[in-house]
Amino acid sequence: MSPSPTILHPRRRLLLPAGAILAGMLILLWPAHTLRSDNFIVYMPSSHAVIQLNLVGDVKYLPLVPVLNAVGKVGAIHEKRDSFRVWFGETQIELRRDERQVRVGDSRLLLAQPVRNPGGQWLVPLEFLTRALPQLTRQPIVYQVGTNRIFVGDVGPVTFSVRLDPTANGARLTIQFSEKVDLHTAASNGKWYLYPEPRPVQPLEPEYHFENPYVSDLQFDDQDGIPKLILTPAAGALNFYPTLTDGGRVLLADVVKPPPLAPSQVPGGEQQPATTAGAMPGTTPGAPPGPEAPPGATGPPLPVIVLDAAHGGAEAGARGRDGVLEKDLVAQLVARVRVGLLATRKYRVLLTRAGDVDPTFEQREVAANVARAAVFLSFHAGNLGVTTPRVVVFSYRPSAEPGAEAGGKETALLVPWTEIYRLHQDRSQALAAALQQKFALIAGVTADKPATAPIRALRSIDAPSVAIEVGSLSPDEDSGALTDANFQGQISSAVVAGIEAFRGGVS
Ligand SMILES: [Zn+2]
Repeated sequence: MSPSPTILHPRRRLLLPAGAILAGMLILLWPAHTLRSDNFIVYMPSSHAVIQLNLVGDVKYLPLVPVLNAVGKVGAIHEKRDSFRVWFGETQIELRRDERQVRVGDSRLLLAQPVRNPGGQWLVPLEFLTRALPQLTRQPIVYQVGTNRIFVGDVGPVTFSVRLDPTANGARLTIQFSEKVDLHTAASNGKWYLYPEPRPVQPLEPEYHFENPYVSDLQFDDQDGIPKLILTPAAGALNFYPTLTDGGRVLLADVVKPPPLAPSQVPGGEQQPATTAGAMPGTTPGAPPGPEAPPGATGPPLPVIVLDAAHGGAEAGARGRDGVLEKDLVAQLVARVRVGLLATRKYRVLLTRAGDVDPTFEQREVAANVARAAVFLSFHAGNLGVTTPRVVVFSYRPSAEPGAEAGGKETALLVPWTEIYRLHQDRSQALAAALQQKFALIAGVTADKPATAPIRALRSIDAPSVAIEVGSLSPDEDSGALTDANFQGQISSAVVAGIEAFRGGVS
């Protein structure tokens, strides 16, 4: 340690000599997994502020004015060379350069470290926050020594504990939250990101390291003011299936090796049992297989097409007069589309369910979003009236709930997770149109104009997404037209061609 104070600028400053524009680009391109430790976050009940930390020697300092602006409103400022006075509400705060004593209203606080003023910026040690903010804000303060975040007022941060257990083909991460959370997931740079919402998070440990062949570590980061857990796999090409359970208090996340391709699933296999749900051999029912690449595929990852066979398990969906169930019919279609897509060698394919199980909407959307789907297709069969066979493609539109679409949301920078379809509405409609054009080419099949409907399965998919419904499957009809291998083959080929056309490929 040097005897005289050293100002360590955050490393971002080091980029400035290269020019402001270049610096801006470098910041934007900075890998998301780089954890910076030069910010301090002030969490309030309905807002937060990101404030740059300064190190003087090895002591953490914060600029006083941004801290005060984070928790209230700064009034008049009187600044001299060696002293600084600022009004905060009714209270005057007075600092003196290199002195440990500060005045807050009528009280004098003796801090362990002196006030600093490098480059004209008045810096207070972190201790100032815990000592002065309760008096200044008249709010409870929660601060854990050593951390770079403080909670002011009735914030009630969520905390969590972590464990990792080995499983047959991978590892299961269990995260127990102290409160119910919603979870928003993403993948970037080979890592998985979990965003617990909507409350701030106080981790018990900033990072967990695992001696495990599948999972390397779990880190907490909120340096940009957004709490997130970052899971680093120990190897490439693993799949990640997070599921929230226990009313949002427990996250179960399976990290698994993708199942090997079974010979019977290789393109060209034409047999399709009439009543099974197209389970992938070698997988546990309930766990969907990961994005599956064409056999022998090398090179950069191919775009992921997510195929969602609706319903499953006890939730059979619609039923034909002859007893054919929607859940089985759509699984047959999905199995055929999957084979057709893999045969193009241009896509990876992810199924949201394997076998006769019924994942929740959330499990299905998380699987799709974690895989960064390029296209999401949900398959249904139902009563489409007397004309059969018939096919309709739907994109999402919200149901007309009063107040559900308040005008203010239009300007929000962050689209709420429950409205993520908004980001893709135009592309979803284009996808519906592309599919409809291909369906319309099938002789003997009625292809309706694309429609919109509040289909829950599409609401939170972070990709162009549509539902394809074939019909009629109803108690008044036999399903022969829909179980017919020729019909299913034509529909599947049209789906593949529609995706190709949508993605700009040759149809
Ligand atoms: Zn359905």
